[in-house]
Amino acid sequence: MLTFDDGWKPFREFAYPILKALGFTATLFIYTDFVGARSALSWDEIRQLEQEGFEIEAHSKTHNDLRRRTGESEAEHAQRMQAELAQPLSLFQRHLLRLLTADPLKRGDGREGAAGHVRVGAPPSSSA
Ligand SMILES: [Zn+2]
Repeated sequence: MLTFDDGWKPFREFAYPILKALGFTATLFIYTDFVGARSALSWDEIRQLEQEGFEIEAHSKTHNDLRRRTGESEAEHAQRMQAELAQPLSLFQRHLLRLLTADPLKRGDGREGAAGHVRVGAPPSSSA
């Protein structure tokens, strides 16, 4: 399995032609705040890749560390996690063909961790 992190625009220019020539697809983990930025793929480009068989997976909203920060209350953390997990889901629903179903952002639950670098443990409401 080939994975590419974050949805950088050079993926389209450099990796994509090689993958296509070799008959490979890949999985792109994108974080939604980055989509459409100057150095990032656009939703149109991402959707085109999806239509060609590339897998698109969510990598959180902001790419920030999802662990509770020092001084952050449980309620603040829960609210931040809600945005980190729910916003990618709604944008995927709006822009892509396939709903999120797989790791690292499990549909419905939204507590399985998102950034790929980070695992979120117990739900905020039950954490110590
Ligand atoms: Zn990343």
